[in-house]
Amino acid sequence: MSFPTTSPEFFAKVGKTPLVLLKSISSSIGRNIFVKLEYHNPTGSVKDRAAVKLLQDSIERGLKPGGTLVEATAGNTGISLAVLSRLAGYRLVLFVPETLIQAKIDKLTGLGAVVFKAENYPDNHPKHMNSLAAIYAKEHDNTIHVNQMNNLVNQQAHFETTGPEIWEQLEGSVDAFVSGAGTGGTFSGVSKYLKKVSDGRVKAIIADKQGSGLHHYIQTNGESFDAEGESFVEGIGKLGLIDNIRDVLTLANDSLQISDIEALNTIYRLIEEEDLRVGASAGVNVAAAIKVAKSLPPGSNVVTIIPDAVDIYAKKVFSKQWLIEQDHWDKIPDEYRKYATL
Ligand code: PMP
Repeated sequence: MSFPTTSPEFFAKVGKTPLVLLKSISSSIGRNIFVKLEYHNPTGSVKDRAAVKLLQDSIERGLKPGGTLVEATAGNTGISLAVLSRLAGYRLVLFVPETLIQAKIDKLTGLGAVVFKAENYPDNHPKHMNSLAAIYAKEHDNTIHVNQMNNLVNQQAHFETTGPEIWEQLEGSVDAFVSGAGTGGTFSGVSKYLKKVSDGRVKAIIADKQGSGLHHYIQTNGESFDAEGESFVEGIGKLGLIDNIRDVLTLANDSLQISDIEALNTIYRLIEEEDLRVGASAGVNVAAAIKVAKSLPPGSNVVTIIPDAVDIYAKKVFSKQWLIEQDHWDKIPDEYRKYATL
């Protein structure tokens, strides 16, 4: 399948991201934590990998030149699709959570997408943003619902690229893979690949944020998605089952829940000790990876994902006022408070 685009360079630049060792943290715990720096993708996040395949799939499902893609997204898929659809000559309509950080909405509209805010409902609820996107596609001509949540080409992208890259970069020395799940594409695709290639040896662990029900779902072996509270972390967390996490109970060896303050302090620690400026979900991933690594024998290799960079979250993560309002300030160690400069 070829793309009706003048920019094949874009597609060539997706993936093959660096995998780096967190030197200071790893030496402090006697286990190795490797992070896959997905902000090196062309639009700055892990979602470029899935977006390329999802666009291709939309064309195969009948999207015609000048048509419209419609999708529900917490932002990064929207940014990838906005760039891709522009290059390929399509319009883009997005449904986003009403709580999405304004910087992402501004970026999306700046890239030419039409953005509608949706209230927070459990996945599969008729008013969930993904249902709204499906209805929009039905009501408009030459419009395809991308459907990253239920379209399995999303996880296939990670099975074909992210998983093999990790395996090759560590020459097979992977003991555990830790990741949050938003659509579940990254977790499911990478875990499936690593388990397949290692004959089931690699452990896969879900890193969940506070306010998400996925951790409870795994810990109760699929009983329910109970969750309480909210989180500032965007892009991960689930309140219901969607197709790209349908296999999570067989794939996940365990799950951990990380509080917002743990995620924040991990973000500051990564700046302080590793010179890395990572986004909010990466704070959850690395905090969970450290806990997982400590539970494994010394010298173990644990891999996690840095889905995007901190920049777009700066107005929260680096804002003293926001940190005080959220009751985080008192729980931030003195040596990290210098990062609250906004
Ligand atoms: N972190 C961020 C910031 C994201 O935007 C996403 C995408 N939803 C993820 C993590 C999770 O990726 P996935 O959709 O593959 O589960």
